[in-house]
Amino acid sequence: MSPRKPPPPDPDPLAPLIDAHTHLAACGGRDAQAVRAILDHAASVGVGGVVTVADDMVDARWAVAAAEWDDRAWAATALHPTHAGDLTDETAEELRMMAQHPRVVAVGETGLDWYWLQRSDDCAPREVQIESFRWHIALAKEVGKPLMIHNRDAGRDVLDVLDDAGSPETVIMHCFSEDEAIARECVERGYLLSFSGTVSFTNAAALQDAARVVPPELLLVETDAPFLTPHPFRGHPNQSYCLPYTVRALAQVRDDDADDLARQVTANAERAYRVRLPAA
Ligand SMILES: [Zn+2]
Ligand SMILES: [Zn+2]
Repeated sequence: MSPRKPPPPDPDPLAPLIDAHTHLAACGGRDAQAVRAILDHAASVGVGGVVTVADDMVDARWAVAAAEWDDRAWAATALHPTHAGDLTDETAEELRMMAQHPRVVAVGETGLDWYWLQRSDDCAPREVQIESFRWHIALAKEVGKPLMIHNRDAGRDVLDVLDDAGSPETVIMHCFSEDEAIARECVERGYLLSFSGTVSFTNAAALQDAARVVPPELLLVETDAPFLTPHPFRGHPNQSYCLPYTVRALAQVRDDDADDLARQVTANAERAYRVRLPAA
């Protein structure tokens, strides 16, 4: 994301939609007024609800606050795999408390990130990531909420850890980025696959093949804002209001009707997160 590029124009409205994974605080939503402005904008094009996701402990507190400020936001809390080294007795206890909060609808994002492991000295080491991932899997089972997975270049290992630990009832593969073979393995396990703007990218043939093999009832859509702005606005700042671009791109890839797909993914999000979209 470059701050120099302007935000994309509003897409044509498409409703109902739930942004299954966004980061409100990173989009500037750090007080009630800013959160309301982002969600008003999203609602104006049909995106009536969002799940705002934590990256680290500070972000987790922002996510819970946003969900308390506005009934169009729900939270997911966890330590991102790159921050897995922050898991201590103290933060574990705080995350356990948060996971029981009624507005926290998932444990996430957790998982494995071998991309940043290769590129950043700040990234938690491999074994630390795996240990934190296992702890979050156990927490999701303990509180009976969905597990939201972050996977970057680690699909095989993510599935192996989940198989070994035993999956919670609901598993969401956020920003699905793998090929058709891994997609089929996720579908076999009943996991939900959440597609972001990357499915609209012009060089995303393998990901688009993966999107075609997912049964409708296992699909979700997300922005992962402020990152991963859909084509043709790649590199511009992303926000939840941009979600209709991705849903239309996904519909085109799958040869689905966009309105039907919107209804389907929203029903899936309501079922997975056990939420109901507030009346517009
Ligand atoms: Zn992620
Ligand atoms: Zn994210």
